[in-house]
Amino acid sequence: MRDFSNDHSALALNTASLGHNLDGHGAGWPPERVIDACAERGFGSIVFWRREIGARAVEIGERARAAGLAVAGLCRTPYVVGSEATDRQVVIDSAKAAIDMAASLGAAVLTIVVGGVHPGSKGTAESLDIVTDRLGEIVTYAAERGVKLALEPLNPVYAGNRSCLTTVRDALDICDAIGAPNLGIAVDVYHVWWDNDLDTQLKRAGAGRIFGYHLCDWLADTHDVLLDRGMMGDGVADLRAIRKSVEGAGYAGPCEVEIFSAQNWWKRDPGEVLDVMVERFRTLC
Ligand code: ZN
Repeated sequence: MRDFSNDHSALALNTASLGHNLDGHGAGWPPERVIDACAERGFGSIVFWRREIGARAVEIGERARAAGLAVAGLCRTPYVVGSEATDRQVVIDSAKAAIDMAASLGAAVLTIVVGGVHPGSKGTAESLDIVTDRLGEIVTYAAERGVKLALEPLNPVYAGNRSCLTTVRDALDICDAIGAPNLGIAVDVYHVWWDNDLDTQLKRAGAGRIFGYHLCDWLADTHDVLLDRGMMGDGVADLRAIRKSVEGAGYAGPCEVEIFSAQNWWKRDPGEVLDVMVERFRTLC
């Protein structure tokens, strides 16, 4: 395992951790200020959300790199399945627009949160087949633009309306079915911490298919499954064991802190939040 105690250049900020992707939350810092605050603290990279980027993808990407930060990723495609994704062509066209944004930004990876159970179906199997069909239509488009697509399984609590994809196993089944080198997975502690099959599945993934590793913690007494994520060390996820599995599979990329926390971290000064991230990353992750 890598030793971060004296080197946190692997640390990445997902800007959602500062509340910037939801109206009415966070300090409202523009991307430039977030970039500078991360660079000052020695973060190695940053991950943005589409709503922050708008029409300024090239400009913001260049600004980040000039400050010394890599743009590790962009969140995320619109849903590709579920009640908000009933028109196949609209889904494919909007996914391609997100790919174009990632390419302009110079983001290495575009994350895919697939969406919930498709209207008219029950369970997740049929919805996952729809995901496979639709992703098969966009992987080549992404590859031609140098963008990797990372399927992010979400915690099963979201299966109904946000992600019928809930395990690394199912994500790898989709990767296997499509067989494109630019299609892989993102592993987020919040979504996989409970899964005792994780180590086996990550070995199956191998280094070539793990495109991201996301950090936070699962609070034992979670009040809101969407907006009450914990800071690393405050919950019950075995962070060291998960990273051991991720790195044991060959992953050596950024460790991206992604914390949705409406009642705690989003209410604090962003500078304080970033300082705590660095300290926790170096000592606990
Ligand atoms: Zn994530």
